[in-house]
Amino acid sequence: MTVDEIISAAMKEGRVYLTELESKQILKEAGIATTEIRLAKSKEEAVSLSREIGFPVVLKIVSPDVLHKSDAGGVKLSLDSEQEVGKAFDDIISSIKEHEPAAKIEGVSVQNMARPGTEVIIGMSKDPQFGPVLMFGLGGILVEILKDVSFRIVPLTRRDAREMIKELKGYPILEGYRGQEPANIEVLEDLLLTVSDFVEGRPEIMEMDINPIFAYSDGAVAVDARVILESE
Ligand code: ADP
Ligand code: MG
Repeated sequence: MTVDEIISAAMKEGRVYLTELESKQILKEAGIATTEIRLAKSKEEAVSLSREIGFPVVLKIVSPDVLHKSDAGGVKLSLDSEQEVGKAFDDIISSIKEHEPAAKIEGVSVQNMARPGTEVIIGMSKDPQFGPVLMFGLGGILVEILKDVSFRIVPLTRRDAREMIKELKGYPILEGYRGQEPANIEVLEDLLLTVSDFVEGRPEIMEMDINPIFAYSDGAVAVDARVILESE
C-alpha cells in the first residue's frame, strides 16, 4: 500500500491513530529504514512468518486502540524458536484481552530482532504558530527523566539537523561512550532531513513518534513508530 492508500483507508474508518505496521509502511516509503515487519492473523501464520524472517524475532500487538504496546503486554522480544513464537502469540492476545478488552485486534506483527544500538528518538508535532516542529533526543531514561531533547522548525537545514544532535547533553553517548559503538552522525542528520521533507509534504499528518530508532556506526533503523493523522 502507498502512503496515500494507508492514510485514506484510516480516514474512511474515522481513525486518526495508525498502527505500528501502517506507520512503518509509511516510513519505508519515505526512505527511512525500519525493521522488517509482517502481519500475522493466526498463530500458524506467526510461526511461518518467523521462519521466513529468521530467528530471533519479535512479536507485537497490532491494534489502533493500543498505543503503549509494552504496558499492555503486547511486545515479546528475542523469540528463538517456533515454540516460543507460538506461545508469545497466545500470551499477547490473552494479555490484550485482559488489559484492553475493547481493543480491536488486527493481528500480531512479526519482526526481525534488531541488534542493539544507541537508542534515539525523532518526533514531529505541530505548533499552532510555527507549524511542524521536529524533536530529537536520546531514548530511554534520558528522554523520559532528563528531557534531554532539542527542537527545530520544519523545514530543517543540514545545519539545523547537525545542531540539534550536537546540542544534546548526551551527545558524548552518540560519539561512543566507554567503548560503545559510536552512532553515525551523518546518518542521523540525513534521517532528520528525510523526516523534515516528508512531513512538509504531508499536512494530513498531525503527529509522528519514531521511538526508538537504533543508531549504529553504519546506519540506523526505526524499531517502533506511531503516526497520528489530522482529524479532518
Ligand atoms: P511500545 O509501544 O511499548 O513503545 P515498542 O515497539 O517501542 O513498544 O517496544 C518496546 C521496546 O522493545 C523498544 O523500546 C525496544 O527497546 C524493544 N524492541 C521493540 N521492537 C524491537 C525489535 N524489532 N528489535 C529489537 N528490539 C525491539
Ligand atoms: Mg516505542
